Amino acid sequence: NNLYEVYSKNTKTSCEFMEKAKTVMPEGVTANIKSFAPHPIVMEKGHGAYLTDLDGNKYVDYLLSYGALMLGHGHPEIIEAITAQLHSDGTALFGTPHRLEVEMAQKVQEHYPSMELVRYTNSGTEATLLALRLAYSYTGKYKIAKFEGHYHGGYDQVLLSVNPPVNEAGPVNEPNAIIESKGVDPYHQEHTIILPFNNIEACADILTKYKDEVAAVVLEPIQGGFIPAEQSFMDGLRKLTEELGILLIFDEVKTGFRLGLGGAQSVYNIKPDLTALGKVVGGGFPVGIIGGKKEILMVSAPTSASDVFDNSQSKQSAAKDVLFHSGTYNGHPTILTAGLKTIEVLELEIDQVMETTDELKKGIEALFTAKGIAMKAVGKGTIFNVVLTEKEEILNYRDLQQSDFVTRKIIDFHLLNHGIYTKPLNRYSLSTVHGKKEIDLTLEAYENVLSKL
Ligand code: PLP
Repeated sequence: NNLYEVYSKNTKTSCEFMEKAKTVMPEGVTANIKSFAPHPIVMEKGHGAYLTDLDGNKYVDYLLSYGALMLGHGHPEIIEAITAQLHSDGTALFGTPHRLEVEMAQKVQEHYPSMELVRYTNSGTEATLLALRLAYSYTGKYKIAKFEGHYHGGYDQVLLSVNPPVNEAGPVNEPNAIIESKGVDPYHQEHTIILPFNNIEACADILTKYKDEVAAVVLEPIQGGFIPAEQSFMDGLRKLTEELGILLIFDEVKTGFRLGLGGAQSVYNIKPDLTALGKVVGGGFPVGIIGGKKEILMVSAPTSASDVFDNSQSKQSAAKDVLFHSGTYNGHPTILTAGLKTIEVLELEIDQVMETTDELKKGIEALFTAKGIAMKAVGKGTIFNVVLTEKEEILNYRDLQQSDFVTRKIIDFHLLNHGIYTKPLNRYSLSTVHGKKEIDLTLEAYENVLSKL
């Protein structure tokens, strides 16, 4: 109780602000994920690795907007690049092709050679949605398979079994499709097949059964950004999908430019048919990039481009034999400027982010060991999660559900009171501006917190 009293006292202005916010937005938030009890902390500023809230409290930020900010907040090189671009070109929303669309595509292809052609979207959600549409169009099949516990955005086909109650989730080897949200058409329970992660035998059984109906398997190669696929599972899944005539979609919205410059496909040495990128490649702004095999992407090529005498407007953007894809803001030059600058900096500094992440993981693990609390820093690359578990390994959603979320939440609130920010129960993402000073501050806070448990 004292813990939450201190929290409420420290974040009094946030609490008052949220009352006002509730008068204009449901529960005061514009994305449900921003809400938590007793009230979220309302941030005002972000500089480098730090956030400042409405009460003037300063935090080391490990949320980094759910991993999007790989150079921290307001990186001077990004600010300089976009300011110059805005001064030179204006707000740069032209509704025409643009030089930077090609520049970014080439840069992405340098690191993701499987993305032979690309298209831009405004979010990771739209990128995975377009990937599914491409898969349906290319294969002529209309079911997809996704994994229990994997998130791909907020639309009907994938809002199933992201965070299902375990007692309703069905057999571990053949999970039920549990609807995640109000408003999802129950049709999708029949058309989205749920697979168990890191279990190739069960995937083989399920996919063989549905092979004539399933267009694609979509997955987060690292579940939730922190539970890695096993190499043998990845190898098995690539082979299986190829044999069954099912496309393989890597959702690298979290892992792209985070697990390494080349994402999961480079680390696992797997060539997916389609890849969705987002978050880091927007340099702090909304973006999605979808790419893959040329013959699949070509399904969205407008046929009217070859016929100057065809004046039918509708044929310009939509036709029965073409996959519709449009968007007023797709490939916005200012966002591509921020993204290109981000990649440029990461090309020099990503190894250092990996090292800092390892150092923090080891430091936290050592403190838990000293305290005698069973804990694992689960993760690969530049994201990890603090999982309170006695288990040898965390391989999937069900393993994670058996961990101690209650103690973890208590620790998280203590840490918030000590100026270490991640949303309770969330992951830790690191950036190029997290260094020794921030690690020391974090370990000091952990030491203090663990001494109180
Ligand atoms: N896919 C994954 C793996 C994600 O982590 C997310 C967002 O957290 C998305 C897709 C959706 O991206 P966005 O929030 O940009 O729509």
